[in-house]
Amino acid sequence: MATKILLVEDSDTQLRFLKEGLLQNGFEVETATNGADAYKKVYSFLPDIIVSDIMMPIIDGYQLCRMIKNVEETKKIPIILLTVLDKKIDSFWGKKAGAQLFLSKSIDLKELVSNINSTVRRYPLTDEYKQGIAAKADTENSAQLRLNSVLNDLLLKSVFSNEFRNLSDFLNYERILVEKLFSLLSSFVEYHVAGIYFASPDDFAENILYVDTLGRNLSKNLLSDISYDFFRKMEEHKDIKNSKFEVVRMLLGKELDYQFGDLTSKIIIPMIFDKKLIGGICFYTRQDIDYSSFRFFDIMISELLAIFKMKYQYTEKEFMSVLDGLTGLYNRRQFEISLEQECNRTKRHPSDFSLAILDIDFFKKVNDTYGHQYGDYVLKTVADLMKQSFRKTDLLYRYGGEELVMIMPETNIEGAVIPVQRLRRMVEDYDFEYNGVKAKVTVSIGLTMNYSSLSSSADILKSADEALYKAKEGGRNRVILYEQQLS
Ligand code: GH3
Ligand code: MG
Ligand code: MG
Repeated sequence: MATKILLVEDSDTQLRFLKEGLLQNGFEVETATNGADAYKKVYSFLPDIIVSDIMMPIIDGYQLCRMIKNVEETKKIPIILLTVLDKKIDSFWGKKAGAQLFLSKSIDLKELVSNINSTVRRYPLTDEYKQGIAAKADTENSAQLRLNSVLNDLLLKSVFSNEFRNLSDFLNYERILVEKLFSLLSSFVEYHVAGIYFASPDDFAENILYVDTLGRNLSKNLLSDISYDFFRKMEEHKDIKNSKFEVVRMLLGKELDYQFGDLTSKIIIPMIFDKKLIGGICFYTRQDIDYSSFRFFDIMISELLAIFKMKYQYTEKEFMSVLDGLTGLYNRRQFEISLEQECNRTKRHPSDFSLAILDIDFFKKVNDTYGHQYGDYVLKTVADLMKQSFRKTDLLYRYGGEELVMIMPETNIEGAVIPVQRLRRMVEDYDFEYNGVKAKVTVSIGLTMNYSSLSSSADILKSADEALYKAKEGGRNRVILYEQQLS
């Protein structure tokens, strides 16, 4: 039986010339003048191979190729793409679209024939496979519908990928990343409760399951049951010591009274990369849903995995390094090491040291009003002001998101309050300006020292935190000193 070629070409002269040549070489040839037409003919003609031009109106060769390769019943049909633009980028796209071969149009007929023959030999279609294609080809109308649905799928997939890729801007803001992920996921997955967890390379880091309840107010019990259920699954892949959950999007209204047992459908997916657990997601719902049969689940998971991978690598880099990338200050891990050392040193050789924690006031509002880049600029500038107002021997760290800490060796609290107040005033007076946008920012600072009543580094840190809390409570833009409880 003659090899059946579906020849797709928008130029009439070219089409006639090629068709003639192929017929002479004993092929059976059907023609189409654009991708949409070709796509429909695939179902009626059942070709052994498609030979298609790239540049065509309506639907071009790449698009045709992607459509054919995207559908189970047609994806085995080999495709040769022809083009005048004998450029690398064309061949790149051709391969991305799934074409088996990419040939220049200037190729002579003999060579084209031999390429067609060898491609058909390499990718033979069984009769059974062709019958499968034919079985889907009942009416002209259904071909059109199929075409539309394939185009929609393709569009959706690429929109999907784009949406996920855009999130990579937020890799270093876990909270924001999580919020954006939830808002994306909730737009196409049905759930009552969803959870996202990022594993850390730091074994001592807390394992947090961020939870989204779509604004519904659910009981703490239910959420801790979910967290337990989720982490039990994660423990199949990693030893998890301290875990907790955190509800991300605001709770509204009165508490809904459903229980763990009411959530009849669920899926828990561990994200694994390089044999390591790098995170996980889960969905729970009261509806009857088979999550794994969801049309885009696979794509969603692979896009999510890409994000989790980037996030993990980012955290790993931060964890391994000494300095924080944004501010150039020492990072949290260094802070923990130094604070411990300072405590030990002053125990052996009694002397004072002070510790201050700074938190930018209403920083969320800065981000919300001017964007995160602006927030980053503010944070970096505050860190720079901090470097200016302290001595070389003072140690400066980025403790968390927008929290900076200072350790001042050989300094008691009365001495420490001077540079700390100076810093607070410097920030208050500073005219922040980035990309022509001006803003005023203030900071609150909690200050403490190694009082003898504070026996460990954790206690000292807690006392600074307490003072910071009071500074916030007392109206912000102020320095509050920790008051020892004299017993
Ligand atoms: P408060 O005065 O009570 O401190 O109000 P706040 O809005 O500053 O509240 P909080 O300290 O809880 O908020 C911290 C916010 O800072 C959360 C997050 O959106 C933002 N943030 C944390 N790290 C970064 C960062 O590296 N860059 C930017 N742009 N924003 C960050
Ligand atoms: Mg804060
Ligand atoms: Mg703050």
